[in-house]
Order: sequence, then structure tokens, then C-alpha cells
Amino acid sequence: MNHKRNGIELKFYNTATRSKEVFKPREENHVRMYTCGPTVYNYAHIGNFRTYVFEDLLRRTIKFFGLKITQVMNLTDVDDKTIKGAIANDCTLEEFTQPYKDAFFEDLASLNIERVEHYPAATGYIPEMITMILSLLDKGIAYESHDGSIYYAIDKFPRYGCLSHLNFDELKPCASHRNTSDEYEKENVSDFVLWKKCDPLRDGKTFWDSPFGKGRPGWHLECSAMAISLLGPSLDIHVGGIDNMFPHHENEIAQSEAFTQKTFSKLWMHSEHLLVDNKKMSKSLGNFYTLRDLLAKGYTGTQVRYMLLHTHYKTSLNFTFVGLEAAKATLQRIQDFIRRMQEIASSGESESSFSSSSGSDAVTALLKKGLHEFAEVLADDLNISSALAVLFELIRDLNGKADEEKLNSADAKNILELLQELNQVLGVFSFEKQEVEIPLYLQEALQKRIEARQNKNWAEADSLRDTISQAGYIIEDTPVGMRLKKDEIARRPA
Ligand SMILES: [Zn+2]
Repeated sequence: MNHKRNGIELKFYNTATRSKEVFKPREENHVRMYTCGPTVYNYAHIGNFRTYVFEDLLRRTIKFFGLKITQVMNLTDVDDKTIKGAIANDCTLEEFTQPYKDAFFEDLASLNIERVEHYPAATGYIPEMITMILSLLDKGIAYESHDGSIYYAIDKFPRYGCLSHLNFDELKPCASHRNTSDEYEKENVSDFVLWKKCDPLRDGKTFWDSPFGKGRPGWHLECSAMAISLLGPSLDIHVGGIDNMFPHHENEIAQSEAFTQKTFSKLWMHSEHLLVDNKKMSKSLGNFYTLRDLLAKGYTGTQVRYMLLHTHYKTSLNFTFVGLEAAKATLQRIQDFIRRMQEIASSGESESSFSSSSGSDAVTALLKKGLHEFAEVLADDLNISSALAVLFELIRDLNGKADEEKLNSADAKNILELLQELNQVLGVFSFEKQEVEIPLYLQEALQKRIEARQNKNWAEADSLRDTISQAGYIIEDTPVGMRLKKDEIARRPA
């Protein structure tokens, strides 16, 4: 079985059963995964991206274990919020949502989130949604209310509440009560809307014709229709943020299973909240950040990705700028290590092909052990903090060997190969050579300083060092001589 990497089985925590389970896709070696995507009415915030980065880690892990994946992430381009935005901006729904769709893909690229196979927009699946409603009406599960909208009768679906484990005795659901809004709290558990009859005041020019009159779909129905259309009646994994568990995912299950008579998804995974300075992120508290806000402060997408990635998805992630600075410093240390290995790897290129054709046994054993441990902890419900700990320990050991000059160029090449393999999952390392951008006058200053030191002209050497450090660089002593490096600590944004 391909998905066993050296005998390691993938295990994921299933929200539906509240237990960790061995993961087995329905079709051997092919995973079908649905991920709820953004509502394209504004720029996505870092809380949204925490979920998307987690989903990217999940996707990359599945591929790392040799499985094929077909993933869908929808774009919600018709709902209460997008329609409100189009009306406020006096434009069509498409004119309003398109810039946010474009921005979303730019943000995914900044965060090095892999492109998935399908990004359907809800407005492209209206006929499929109408087909589902007709079937649910036919089965007596949906009904038309006096206001002309179509609702889902939750008491006709005995499993309703199975995912979020709602206690209906406590919540006292009222079947006669109906929810017309897309989002509501569990205190308001009730019949939910499948098709909203057109209300020109609320909907402006946004409506579609249907056998049950002009109107538009409810938000929950959109995901069911897109998931079933693109992935079939039964998924292997359905993923989302914990906020979407109720009512959104609960309603998706009710609609889909009543329509197909099949289990909608075997496995449900949810990521926990992101907090900022231990508080809920909100515009009113002034602690609300989009990805773009952080990039404007001088951070890179990779740094933000690492910060969002490094905490286990089932733990609340507390975002702070101190934490983001720590992420930046960690990545810099890894990049320094990569550069060191690149130098050792290329130092052997001029030697004869016999001198270092294979790595040393001790290093090969270390790498093999590191890869196995990394895979093992990752397979255990994406234990990312342990996976990173394995990486850091490996780097520490290898730096130690490099200090003792016990790494040959073949070792260094093997190390770089391993890092590239781990980066298929982590997506945060850069293997591009980083020399070029140092200004010529600084390179000359470095050369003069080396000469000044050789001539024991300490005053001049000190003065040249000051010139270099004032320009934001530090001098590094490396096995191949003195070299300049950007001083990341001095360059921290205020
Ligand atoms: Zn959804």
C-alpha cells in the first residue's frame, strides 16, 4: 500500500466520531477532499488563512505519503454578504466579487499554498442546486413556506446534529421556527433556507429563475452541490474552520445525505480559532489583520505561513508580533543552514569524482532516522510541532558535524535533498542562492578590511566594519572566507 510510507499509517482526528482513526480513502491511493473556501466579499484575514494553511499542510502530507488527491475549494460568490456589498457599491455581483477572487489567489501564492484541482464558484452551480432542491421537495424533506422561500425540515433528518453533537433537549429546537439568514448560532437551531425567494430590496439585481420562482440559493446548499458535482456523493475528507461546524457543515450533511442516500463524508476535520494577543480578532478591538496588512509591515508570506503552520491545528493559535518575529528568526536560522550546506556541497565540485562520491555512513544514518521520525509524527494527526522539533534537532546535529568539518560535499548534497523532501510538506524553505544583491561598494569595503587586518591596520579595519554594519550588513566568517550577510535583527520593523 502506497500510503504506508515505510510502514507508517496516516491517522487523523475525526470530529464526527471524536476519535483518531486510521485514514483509508474509499478508492485506494486516491483521496477526495472538500474544503470550504472564502466568501469573496473582502480580503481574507489571518484567521481564514490559518485554516487554509492547515488544509495545505493536510494536502501536502497526503501527497507526501504517496497518495493522489483531488481537492475542491469553493468560492462563495453569492450569499448575504456578497449581495450586500454589490448593492452598497452599486454594481453587479460579479463586478463586486471578481477583485476579491483575484486577491484571494494572490494571497494563496504569497503563502505558498498549493493550487488545488478545482475552485468552483457558487454562481456556476445554480442548476445543480435547483436539482437538489427539487429532489428534497419530492422526498418531502424540503417545503415551501408562506413567504415563498424553500426550507429544509430538520426533523425529517434523524441524524441532524451528528457532527456537532448538539444536545437538542437543551437547545429546544423549534421546527416551526425558520432561519432565513446564512449564518446563525446554535441557540437558533431550526429549519434552514435552501432557496430564498427574490426580495428586490434585499437582493437588488441578484436572482435566478427556478421552478419555484425567482430567487437565490442559501449558502449551505452551495457547498453540497459543488462537492457532489465535482467529487461524487461520498467524500473521503471534508475540512473547514471550527466556526463552520455548526450550522454550515451540519446542514451540508443533512442536504447531501437526504439527496444521495449515501454517507457524505467519512472524515471531518476542523481547525481551531486564531486569537490575536489572546483575544478574538475584531475590527473594533483594532487587532484585525489581513495577510496584506502583515506584508505591508515588511513581513514575507513565508514568515506568515510558518507562523500559521507551526501550531497544531486543533490548538488555538495565538498570533502576536513577538511570535511572528520568532518565526522570522527561526526561518533565518534554517536559511543560514541551507546556505552553509550549499557551500559545502559546491566545495566538492572541483575535487576529483572519487573523493566524495558518497556520503558518510554516520550522516546517512542521521538523515534516514530524521526522515522516518518526521514522517511518523506528521502521520499522527499532523503533529507539526514534533515534526519541526525533529527538523531542528537534525539541523543542530548536522551543524555540529559541520563545525567539526565532518561533512563532505556528498553529505551536504544528501542533506539538501532531504530538506527539499521535507519542504514538500512545509513549503517554507528557499533553495535559491542568495548572494547577488550585496552592493559593490560593500563588497569592496569587505575586501579592503581583509587586507587591513592582514596588514594589522586595526583602526582602518574597525572603520570599514562600521561602514558595513551601518549599511545593515554583518561580516560572517565561513569555511570559504569572510562574507557579508544582511543583519536581520537590525532590520526588524519598528
Ligand atoms: Zn462550505
